[in-house]
Amino acid sequence: MSQFDDLISANAKYAAKFRNSELTGRAARGLGVVTCMDSRIDPLGLLGLEAGDAKILRNAGARVTDDVLRTLVLAVYLLGVERVLVMPHTDCGMSKVTDADVHELTQRHGVDTRSLEFHTVPDQGAALRHDLTRIRSSPFLPPGLPVGGAIYDVHTGELLPVALE
Ligand SMILES: [Zn+2]
Repeated sequence: MSQFDDLISANAKYAAKFRNSELTGRAARGLGVVTCMDSRIDPLGLLGLEAGDAKILRNAGARVTDDVLRTLVLAVYLLGVERVLVMPHTDCGMSKVTDADVHELTQRHGVDTRSLEFHTVPDQGAALRHDLTRIRSSPFLPPGLPVGGAIYDVHTGELLPVALE
């Protein structure tokens, strides 16, 4: 018995019906999506995608961090990504706290996180514009790469385009 038994047994059923053996590691729809780790977001489902279609990059707040940029460079030049959608969402936990709040919370558990930057989001629109600019102005990505931004509403399932090219 382990904490993961439910997952292992679910996977046995999944593998028994597996039909994706022909897929390659390239993004079949040429899409990269940067979104939040929020468990309410089903990136493939909400965008009409299936396994094999897109590269999905997730972190707290859908932020374009150094590691997201690193991954996008690989996705573009090696794995067929030709367009990038940055997709934060409504009711995001990262827009409800500041980095200082998180440090204070972890301090209560006896953990000092002050050397970590959490990239919390005081202003979601401003953060999204900043992150889109970060991708568009990256010297490591192609100048004409289409980069769009849209906010996913976790209560209606709708996607609100913010900055689509
Ligand atoms: Zn979130």
